[in-house]
Amino acid sequence: MAVGWHRPTKLVIDTQAIKENVSNEVKRMPQGTELFAVVKANGYGHGAVQTAQAAIEGGATGFCVAILDEAIELREAGITEPILILSVVDVSYIDLLLKYDLSVTVATQEWLVQAIDQLNQIKTQAPLKIHIKVDTGMGRIGFTTPIAVKQTIELIQSTQVIAWEGLFTHFSTADEKNTSYFEKQSERFQEILSVLSELPQYVHVSNSATALWHPNNAGNMIRFGIAMYGLNPSGHALPEIYPLKPALSLVSKLIQVKELAVNEGIGYGNTYTTTKNEWIGTVPIGYADGWLRHLQGFSVLVNGEKCEIVGRICMDQCMIRLPRKTNVGTTVTLIGHDHGANITLQMVADKLETIHYEVACTFSERMPREYK
Ligand SMILES: *Cc1c(COP(=O)(O)O)cnc(C)c1O
Repeated sequence: MAVGWHRPTKLVIDTQAIKENVSNEVKRMPQGTELFAVVKANGYGHGAVQTAQAAIEGGATGFCVAILDEAIELREAGITEPILILSVVDVSYIDLLLKYDLSVTVATQEWLVQAIDQLNQIKTQAPLKIHIKVDTGMGRIGFTTPIAVKQTIELIQSTQVIAWEGLFTHFSTADEKNTSYFEKQSERFQEILSVLSELPQYVHVSNSATALWHPNNAGNMIRFGIAMYGLNPSGHALPEIYPLKPALSLVSKLIQVKELAVNEGIGYGNTYTTTKNEWIGTVPIGYADGWLRHLQGFSVLVNGEKCEIVGRICMDQCMIRLPRKTNVGTTVTLIGHDHGANITLQMVADKLETIHYEVACTFSERMPREYK
């Protein structure tokens, strides 16, 4: 996709904030714990490579991604730290896992059997690094019983081509006030640990929410995602343990300003009509940028003042109601601080009736990311 370098609309990413969020967590982690920064989905929309570099400066010692291509992107950018792919990779790509020195998740015995077969055919020197995933109640991927985990470990120990590097699980409610389901998952994981006679290098259970609100849970590594970007994993549910610094802003500039008379329509479908003489500004951002149509009626900041988005949001542009005549070229802040006022990703998510994770991931490739 063409990136809009020659348009005033851009995401501004504060890499210092990412670094600080990571180092604040590193400081409070239990002794002997490592922080792996989760940079899947282009670093939650913030840019994977730049986020990864800031995370290293903050003290991260490894990375998690969702898919093989994201891991390759980091390696191609020169990142040499351990990288774990959190989801299942087809065994036909094992040569790439080895070539790029990646660790991969094992969620079923069938996969492992096929992988061993494949590895024996390749006659590889280096063993494939794997992390065993335990499904303690997320219902997504992983082994569900202690017996299945034990059998998998026995299979690994019967071959030279697999290196057992990690064991992990994932919590579905670590960001909630009610901890009963969290405790049930936690107990199941402890049950698995209790039947094993040895443990791998990495045992890990903590996403951001677990790290923040259940810091003494099992493991010696945490998978730190959303909090690194400065966003409260729970949305409004739980207070931040320490102040998280949001890293992402979204800004643009007015490209046209006009005064409309009363009873003039704005946008497709003519869903907004002026009720008096109104100053209307046009902002070059639309749903193709991830500024979704459902944000009609939401506000943006111009000189620190809230201005409502009026009329339907178009693919590439939207219109706002200005309090007075304003110069073309004036900065429009869609997310971030402006003259003491602030619009957060959480506020956008609330308007869209979703979570900030989804909003950050929805910003399209068309918007350039500027790093400071
Ligand atoms: C995405 C993901 C994380 C990171 O979660 P955050 O809530 O962003 O910290 C951790 N572990 C797994 C398995 C994930 O898929």
